[in-house]
Amino acid sequence: MQVEQLKALIRQVPDFPKPGILFYDITTLLKDAQGLRTAIEALAEHYRQVRPDLVVGIEARGFIFAPAVAYALGAGFVPVRKPNKLPAATERIEYALEYGTDSLEIHRDAISPGARVLIVDDVLATGGTAQAVARLVEKLGGNVVGIGFVIELSFLGGRSKLGNYPVYSLLQYER
Ligand code: AMP
Repeated sequence: MQVEQLKALIRQVPDFPKPGILFYDITTLLKDAQGLRTAIEALAEHYRQVRPDLVVGIEARGFIFAPAVAYALGAGFVPVRKPNKLPAATERIEYALEYGTDSLEIHRDAISPGARVLIVDDVLATGGTAQAVARLVEKLGGNVVGIGFVIELSFLGGRSKLGNYPVYSLLQYER
């Protein structure tokens, strides 16, 4: 299967989770055996030469793709979670949402200084989440060698917020 064919497997749900939002639903891709394999292999292939030591996944949908990519690359997986879910000592970052703020946490000992870290999530929207996670990784001394997504909502301009990081996405949507 070609990467571009994955678009046919992604369901677009209007007005979810609130009016005016067009939600890109990956569950229809995940249940397709060839689609799932194509998405994971294409992401892994892109990063094979980058040789990350660790792949960081963002709760919750990043937990679907990131460990599979880590497995394919022979790298380790590190979860970034919503506050108060991780049991040991954590580093936390607060970041701005459209309205208000949100926080994410990582275990302090999850990343050794100098480790090559790839961040993987399902959708790049405004880029706020990925930017916060990149900063969290850097707080621990990690080296962000890539930020990869299955879907990029190009019209939201998230890539410019991640300007200093190498960003890659399998599928781009102009609207
Ligand atoms: P961002 O605005 O880039 O910080 O996006 C935050 C998170 O919300 C991402 O991890 C996506 O999984 C999710 N997200 C944002 N917008 C959409 C959308 N239109 N469809 C599906 N997921 C979305």
